[in-house]
This record gives sequence, structure tokens and C-alpha cells, in this order.
Amino acid sequence: MERIIAPVLRARRKIVTESFPNPRIGPSDALVRMIGAAICGTDKHVFQAGEIRLGLPGDVVKLPVILGHENVGVVERIGSKASKEMTTDGEQIQEGERVVISADIVCGTCYYCRNIYGYPWCLNHKSYGDVISCKDPPHLFGGMAEKLFVLPGTFLFRVPKSMSNKIAVLTEQMAVAYGAFGRAFQSPNSKDGYSPGDTVVIQGVGPLGMCNALMARMLGSSKIIAIDRSSYRLKLAKSICGAEVIDLAEHSTPKDRLDAVLSLTDGLGADTVVECTGFPHIVSEGLDLLRNGGTYIVEGAYAEGEGTKVSPSRQILAKNARIIGVSGMPYQAYSRALKMMESYRSIIPFERLVSHVFEQEDAQEAMKVSIGIDSMKVVVGRMKNEVIRNF
Ligand SMILES: [Zn+2]
Ligand SMILES: [Zn+2]
Repeated sequence: MERIIAPVLRARRKIVTESFPNPRIGPSDALVRMIGAAICGTDKHVFQAGEIRLGLPGDVVKLPVILGHENVGVVERIGSKASKEMTTDGEQIQEGERVVISADIVCGTCYYCRNIYGYPWCLNHKSYGDVISCKDPPHLFGGMAEKLFVLPGTFLFRVPKSMSNKIAVLTEQMAVAYGAFGRAFQSPNSKDGYSPGDTVVIQGVGPLGMCNALMARMLGSSKIIAIDRSSYRLKLAKSICGAEVIDLAEHSTPKDRLDAVLSLTDGLGADTVVECTGFPHIVSEGLDLLRNGGTYIVEGAYAEGEGTKVSPSRQILAKNARIIGVSGMPYQAYSRALKMMESYRSIIPFERLVSHVFEQEDAQEAMKVSIGIDSMKVVVGRMKNEVIRNF
């Protein structure tokens, strides 16, 4: 019987390669042969901390877990009901199609599902690669496995035929950026949120920050300012995003960085600042970089840290600041992100965001490399050759 290889996070920082039986599926399930799972900041938080809470109170990680929720693969088997229920464009999903798999599953019936559409709000929310443990059969609930067992309630998004796997694997992260800017978006007349022509500061241009910088570019920002400590990442931000860069090596204090942002924004501060560092303590600095009436998007500080000291009077009230927390995206962000990347791919070399690809057996090394500052998007899967097979 076929065995499916999967890297399993057994303890903090400890991934073991294991194998599981090839699962059978029911009418409402699907089985996807994975092409690649891109490592997300969430995977890094879980890898380092083990059993932690992510976002909503119910979203608690229980080990063992197979990491990976930024997933692209080919549908190997799909149940008769699932082919209708998992589609997002009205057309039944067929075996052999290449798809992006939604990272999240919502119940569809709770207050939030019925009143606010979007993944982060569901009271019974589950997500692949972290909240769903691999302890119980059919085990394969993380995208780093060779195959992903797709549960009822999951949405599948068709990948455009001409899009490379390296771009498709960025969809989930780009969807987060789409959702974030979507929530910040306002009419230019009000100037009380993001609108085209704005200046945008990105705190931290790792993969999430880079997707936000690219989203800001696609949405017509007049200036993108990237702050980071990695010269490799800043170089990439400059090259593919046209970003102005602020290197922590040259601007070591918050005051230095504030001065640098002010000098790039006519002394006003940025219209929009996006936190993509993963460090809660950076939020206070981010508020200082805003112009009066500016918008602050907190997107990276997923895991609870030691917190930060904020002056509600000076940094929020006096500034009339608008603060938006982002822990996920609305459903439609996936197909929009796919369409935007497809339409901009002759102008923006999205593939350059994928800096490393590792096979399943090297997932431990992949995690280490992704945590380092000389990598961008690290992918686990068998996607070295860009061949798309049908099954
Ligand atoms: Zn992610
Ligand atoms: Zn719900």
C-alpha cells in the first residue's frame, strides 16, 4: 500500500519525517497531491513555540502537526459532493486540476459566518498546517506532506494555466495583503484610509512584508518605504518593488528611523504603515511613523509576545490614527490575489520571492533557513521542476 511522506513537528523545533497510509476519501472530501507549501510566519511561530494560540481564542495548536497552509497542488481524488461544494467559480472541480487550497475552514453557520464573511471571524474556525493536528487519521492535514487531505468546508481556487507554481504558492500570503489593503481602502476624498497615491511604510520586508509592498505597488502607492535589518531583503524590495529602503544597520534607533521616514514624506509621516515584523514591540514605533490621520495595519505580530508600550493620547488620539488588525482574509481575496498576480506578472517578477525549495525530507532545514534573514519565501515540496502532472 502506498505510504505518504510527511514531515511532522513532534516538539518545539523538532521535525521528524514520517509516513502515513494513503487515505480513502468520502463524497465530501478531496485529496490533493502537493506541489508546494510556502513557509509562513505562522509556521515559524509554531515551529519555535510548539503549542501556541494563534489569533482567535479557539485557534490553539496541538502537537503533533504537519506544517504548511500556503498550499498549491493537483487534485488527485475528489468526492462527488466536494467537486460542487469546494468550487469558488461555480464550475465543478475535476481531478487533475491545479488548485490553491484555502488555508482555513469555516463552519458557515455561526453568527460571524452568517453576518461577516471572511475566514478570521468564524467561531469554529480551523486551519490546515497548525490548528488541525495530525494525531488522528487520516493525518494529512498540513501542506508539507506529499498529499493533503481536504476537509468539507474548504474552498479550492483554480490556478490559471499559464501561472508558474512559484507564483501560485504565493497566493495565500498575497491574499492576506489584499484583505489588509482592502480593509484600509477608502475614497481619496475622505483621506481617512489607504488610497492610490499614498506613501506606505512596510516594517519588515520578509515574505509577508514583501507581498504587502507588492500589493501597495499594484494599488498605485506613490512611495513605498521598506524597513529591515536584512540587506538582502532590502535589495530585493528595491529591485522588484522600487522601494526606498531604511537599513537598521544605518538607522539603529527608532528616532533614526522616524527621521528617515519624515525626510522621505515631506516631514509628515507615512499615510499608511504596515507592521510585518512579527514582533509586538515594534507597534509603538510604527504608530510614530504615521502622519496625523494615518492608517496603521498590524499584520505580522501573530504570536503573543511581551507586548509594547503605547501612549493612547499621543500616538492614537492626538494623531486621529486608524488602526486595523489583520489575522486573515475574506474568502474572495484568494481569487483576486490570483488574478492580480496573473495580470501583473509581466511587470513584477513575483517568482523572485521564492528563494529556496526543499523536499519534504529536508523540512527541518527549510524551517531553519526560513527563520534566517537571508531567505525570502521558502517552499517545501517537490516543485523544483515546473512540470504540472495530471493524475
Ligand atoms: Zn500564511
Ligand atoms: Zn462560523
